[in-house]
Amino acid sequence: MALGKEISEKLREIVDRDLTFMHICGTHEAAISRTGLRSVLPSRLKIVMGPGCPVCITPQGEIDAALDLVKKGCIVATYGDLLRVPGTRGSLESSGGDVRVVQGVHKAVEIARSTKKEVAFISVGFETTAPTVAATLLTHPPENFSILSCHRLVPPAMKWLLEQGEARLHGFLLPGHVCTVVGYQDYEHFPVPQVVAGFEPEDILLGLLMLVEQVLNGEAKVENAYPRAVTREGNIKARRLMYEVFTPVDAEWRGFPVIPESGLGLRPEFEEYDAQKKFDLTFRHVEKHSACICDKVLRGIAEPTDCRLFGKACTPRTPIGPCMVSHEGACKIWHMYRVKQG
Ligand code: SF4
Repeated sequence: MALGKEISEKLREIVDRDLTFMHICGTHEAAISRTGLRSVLPSRLKIVMGPGCPVCITPQGEIDAALDLVKKGCIVATYGDLLRVPGTRGSLESSGGDVRVVQGVHKAVEIARSTKKEVAFISVGFETTAPTVAATLLTHPPENFSILSCHRLVPPAMKWLLEQGEARLHGFLLPGHVCTVVGYQDYEHFPVPQVVAGFEPEDILLGLLMLVEQVLNGEAKVENAYPRAVTREGNIKARRLMYEVFTPVDAEWRGFPVIPESGLGLRPEFEEYDAQKKFDLTFRHVEKHSACICDKVLRGIAEPTDCRLFGKACTPRTPIGPCMVSHEGACKIWHMYRVKQG
């Protein structure tokens, strides 16, 4: 950690103004919270969380659509993290239906091959998971298999955040996992400093140092502090697979309005696997009626500890919002590592 110490000392030496950078990755938040990294940063340098947890940003209307699939008698296959996320009529866990936790889409296809019943996979995730789902659909799974596509693309949400300006951001720490797949060329048009960072504390500190240096030099470009895993172009094959099967569609994010072209829908050639079409489901907008402030946490304008329910009514055992359910959710991470304040 000698390198980390050196970087944090350098940061303390050069940060001469209030700076706020956002990361968009639950794994970054876990690394920052687990290592207490915020405590070694200069007080004027703030890292806020963005919409980096795919389960957390899935809006209630999509959870309700998953519950509709249960009601229609489907076997619903899903990641464990999604099981307890509340929709308006409870969660998949409390639905009483045949809901099975799987580790990935291939396991859901295996279930479909073993039964005559309809099997629907709730397909959440960013650019990291969409290529795997695409590759699976290209193998032509059985006709009793479909997916509810809840995928999201990161850059359109960043564009929205910058246009709104409510989080007063000076730059972004870009998600290393997502950039491994899609590279970072799609980020180059944003007029703010951005650095792709890995997940060791030194990676994150280096990313922050590079961001601060860009601000101090009056620059706004994309730099790569994670070259051992990320290239500008990313994984070209994975990207091609993703767009062979999916196409960008307008999508609502929890805490955000509908963001143009921020979701992934199935192309017409794959609509036989589209659970939304197959079962005539619509994603309805649901107004928020609880004291949960996940919406603000996901937009980087509140911290988990700002929520009056944090650690009281809302705990990992009794989660009220998705940020306390998912292992990539900021509230669960802060609760787990007993973070008191960012
Ligand atoms: S602590 Fe619970 S209720 Fe509060 S914002 Fe987080 S998930 Fe929502």
